[in-house]
Amino acid sequence: MSDLPDGPLAVPVAAALRDRVRPERIVTDAAVVDRPAAVIRCGEVGDVRAGVAAAQRLGVPLSVRGRGHDWAGRARRAGGLVLDLSGMNSVRVHPEGGQVTVGGGASVGEVLSAAEEHGLVAVTGTVDSVGMVGLATGGGYGPLSGRFGLAADNLVAATVVLADGSVVIADETGDPDLLWALRGGGGNFGVVVEARFDVHRVPSVVTGTVIYPLDQATEVLRRLRELHEEMPDELTVQIALLSGPDGAPVLLLAPTWCGPLATGLAEDGPVHALARLGQPVVAAVAEKRLAEGAAELGTMFPYGRHVEIRTRSVPVLSDDVTAVLIDHVVRKPAPLTAVSLHSFRGAAARVAPQATAFGTRVPHHMVEIISIWTEERESPTHRQWARDLASALAPYSLPGGYPNLLAPDAVDQIPFGFGANAERLRTLKGRFDPDGVFSAIPLPF
Ligand SMILES: Cc1cc2nc3c(=O)[nH]c(=O)nc-3n(C[C@H](O)[C@H](O)[C@H](O)COP(=O)(O)OP(=O)(O)OC[C@H]3O[C@@H](n4cnc5c(N)ncnc54)[C@H](O)[C@@H]3O)c2cc1C
Repeated sequence: MSDLPDGPLAVPVAAALRDRVRPERIVTDAAVVDRPAAVIRCGEVGDVRAGVAAAQRLGVPLSVRGRGHDWAGRARRAGGLVLDLSGMNSVRVHPEGGQVTVGGGASVGEVLSAAEEHGLVAVTGTVDSVGMVGLATGGGYGPLSGRFGLAADNLVAATVVLADGSVVIADETGDPDLLWALRGGGGNFGVVVEARFDVHRVPSVVTGTVIYPLDQATEVLRRLRELHEEMPDELTVQIALLSGPDGAPVLLLAPTWCGPLATGLAEDGPVHALARLGQPVVAAVAEKRLAEGAAELGTMFPYGRHVEIRTRSVPVLSDDVTAVLIDHVVRKPAPLTAVSLHSFRGAAARVAPQATAFGTRVPHHMVEIISIWTEERESPTHRQWARDLASALAPYSLPGGYPNLLAPDAVDQIPFGFGANAERLRTLKGRFDPDGVFSAIPLPF
């Protein structure tokens, strides 16, 4: 990015903003090809309003960037104006009310750490560097989903700049329709400058790593399926098929327990049961802060890698599904390439399907197929591997998929991403953003 506003779009964008936004917050790019024309590093709600107005006046595409983790780059529209909220990352904890107020650009790690200073846990995703609002407005699977639902289910209020520049409060008394839409409908309705989430007091947090050789995966996952039937809400188990220390693919179970400490650590308890599904090569379980675990995972996803993500939602981890996963994982084209399965059950599955915009409320595993490579700019091989695995899983999957991860060209899934909630979303899109100023995760219309 250059600081010199001399590109064809950069000039008028910068000129339009200068009287409303402090100049040092405007970054423009002269060589507008596949990059944004200008970025406003927003510091306050006035910057956001000015950007929303300028983009419409000049007819340039607008996008909103939280912490930049949308793998398809939807936060950075080519030739457009980006509202970068990463500087609006304040986190205020209200311990007495069990809530936290976060800036529109706060990260998962910042929210977890702030809550933990008060002995509370926030309902987030698994990686610290992801934007909390980007995660939660699209859904938000995470290590506490079984006990407290999705991050979206814990969103209780948001301050939103709409396309017409007005600033509204989305909550149960202010605008419940907007709150409903933000709980799963993504950044399609406005810019969330501030959001309030429920946070929780739990007896303990116990996490672990249980690793099995891949040749045990079929049997271990079959037993895990049975275990799932009686698993307490306090236990959420993330599953991954990834390269082990010697490069060979392994099966990883990553449990998070948030019930009583003694139960979490008990040899005959539900967490240790995960180490008795076969003969693990690693089985380590300990009390741990969620922020610490999320930061460790964050080191696995540095910026600058090439990524292709596909997603499917499978209702049952059947033997057929396991076979497809193993068949593809043994042929994965790069060491960092992996498959991660986020569990959706317990509290997350008990929320009524129409209560929030998030459209897939039946128990399932959200399969995240992550192809990562470093060597060259484009790679059909790596992209194709992820697409092939998604295709092979299609016959065993629910229609649709996790909108926060759906590829823009996933045309077989996008129409079903919100289930029966699509019609209400369409009505609300017409009410809050009739001219389509905001484009975010794919909507089915
Ligand atoms: C390494 C990694 C780990 C992940 N882990 C999980 C996980 O555990 N669980 C899970 O459910 N998902 C996970 N995701 C998916 C992630 O939640 C989404 O990609 C999310 O949109 C990222 O938000 P962001 O702010 O970081 O991204 P950005 O690219 O900055 O934003 C993505 C989109 O979110 C919207 N947006 C962001 N902030 C705002 C705002 N304040 N107001 C309005 N719109 C906004 C915009 O439409 C924007 O285009 C992960 C992704 C990655 C890359």
